[in-house]
Amino acid sequence: MQTFYANSSYADIVTIIDNNKTDHFTISYLYDETSALTVNDVSKMDFNQSISNQFTLGYRDGMAWFKITIENNSPYNDFVLYFTEPFWSQFNLFKYQNNQWLEQKNGLSTSLEEREIRDFYPAFPLHIPSDTSKTIFIQGLTVSAHIGEFILFSKDEFFRPDRFTSTQFYTFYLGILSIIVLLNLFLFIAMRERLYAYYIAYVISFMAFISIFSGSYLSLGIQGWNEGLHAIGTLVVLFMTLFSGIFLELKERLPRIHRTFKFFAVIFVICTISITMKVPYSSLFFNLISSVFFTLLLITAIKVLLQGDIKARYYLIALVIYMPTMGMMTLTFNGLLENTDITRYAFLMGSFIEIIFFSMLLVNRFHSLQIEKINIQNELLIEKEKNEQYLENEIKKRTNELHKMNTRLSLQTRELEETKIKLTEESITDPLSTLYNRRYFSDISVSSFNNAQRYKQNLSIMMIDIDKFKNINDTYGHHVGDKVIISCAKTFKKLARKSDLIARYGGEEFIILVPQTALNDVLSLAERIREDMAQQVITDNQNNEIRFSLSIGVSQLNLETDTEIEQIIQRADKALYHAKNNGRNQVKTIF
Ligand code: GH3
Ligand code: MG
Ligand code: MG
Repeated sequence: MQTFYANSSYADIVTIIDNNKTDHFTISYLYDETSALTVNDVSKMDFNQSISNQFTLGYRDGMAWFKITIENNSPYNDFVLYFTEPFWSQFNLFKYQNNQWLEQKNGLSTSLEEREIRDFYPAFPLHIPSDTSKTIFIQGLTVSAHIGEFILFSKDEFFRPDRFTSTQFYTFYLGILSIIVLLNLFLFIAMRERLYAYYIAYVISFMAFISIFSGSYLSLGIQGWNEGLHAIGTLVVLFMTLFSGIFLELKERLPRIHRTFKFFAVIFVICTISITMKVPYSSLFFNLISSVFFTLLLITAIKVLLQGDIKARYYLIALVIYMPTMGMMTLTFNGLLENTDITRYAFLMGSFIEIIFFSMLLVNRFHSLQIEKINIQNELLIEKEKNEQYLENEIKKRTNELHKMNTRLSLQTRELEETKIKLTEESITDPLSTLYNRRYFSDISVSSFNNAQRYKQNLSIMMIDIDKFKNINDTYGHHVGDKVIISCAKTFKKLARKSDLIARYGGEEFIILVPQTALNDVLSLAERIREDMAQQVITDNQNNEIRFSLSIGVSQLNLETDTEIEQIIQRADKALYHAKNNGRNQVKTIF
């Protein structure tokens, strides 16, 4: 073994046997609080601390020096020293070659292009011929914790194309988170709720955090950002605060805690700014305040759950998965927990599960709101249909009722009409002779008179009386008298015109109003009636032949002197009286 540096009183030696990858060894550590030492200085100093290759020493402002002596017992000659934390601002390797210190720069202040191996993580090529050993020094400076893991790869193993690298892992990890962002973006567009916007902001800030944590952001050509991890970390917690406040409906359920959440949100914004502006102790302050906040968040979720909100149960489950892993990570960074793959990387899984869980909750929320919306719409539709059906039925019912009423009414009306007609007919006719009665004659004759007066037309009245009718009644009985009256009525109707108005004026007295006819024609009509009646023979039950005669008085309207129909009737009556006095069975007139 070739001892490279003799005065090293304490040296950890990494012995590489036939291994492609060596990741369990110890190294020497030296803390330079002043950050003033050079490799020349430290190479002559004792490294008083032996640490694991996967180490954490907590937050330290000063310079870290690592001394690694590698003893190569393997057949390989070329190796790569790999360091799995990308956020050290300086991570420079020194090796003594040709009597001088050669420096291989790395860390955030060295761009990917300037690095000997283009990797987000510091990676140094080392030529150590088989069966020789080499001591290298690494100088590290970070605003974060003195934390990390050294791994030694054989060069062939490191560049093996199908080796699963952390780059591949993070690409996959961030790819899934991108899908979640897209999904929630869709939900946000559909719902337009701040909840989804905060959640998207939360996942995006977490993705940024992971990009910085893994160093993958360097591949975008962005300059190394020493404070990035803490600055973005505050944003993650900020959006988590905003998202949780709305998700747990704190404004409605726990207004006081809601105000406290708002207060924390403001504090986290201040932390983001102060960390970015490199204000001393702001990271430490943030670590403390976020621990307090997460405790409050846990208590709040439990309180909401106790209020009986089922959503809080799933939120709590997500939180319970997330918080221990995040807590472990924080404690590891602070050097309070040993740096192992679990304490260091479990938060990747915890956060991932939490994000997936929240997404499922949000999708579920969207889904149930959609279903609720559809249900309400359906209910409204059913209600509407019901109403329409009801209205339709009502209308049908009413229409039917109306129809029935109408039918009944029209029936009643018809009956009424018929009754009216009957009543009218009865009221204007004489039942025995079926001629108009005297009252009707009086009514109608007035208008006939007025018309005749107005149009200067003829109008005659014929007054007819059965001769010695009393005798007929007395001799043959009242019944035969009736027969005579009926027979007279028939004759009048037969001989008179349609326009003539024939009425029974009294017991065996009849009156005929003859309009628009010259007196001579009226007289000849009267004569025809008289003759017709004189020739008629009526038989009774005993087959007695009964003959009878009529006396008729005729008068005519005098357009100059007559003012009412009564005057004409009186003259006809007078003429009738003359006919009677003159021996009966004759027609007389008065001018
Ligand atoms: P004259 O030639 O002078 O007219 O003699 P007359 O008997 O016809 O006259 P009078 O006025 O004295 O008698 C009329 C009679 O007519 C009296 C009455 O009993 C009878 N009479 C009135 N109305 C009816 C009726 O509806 N039926 C019957 N059978 N007789 C009637
Ligand atoms: Mg008489
Ligand atoms: Mg008579």
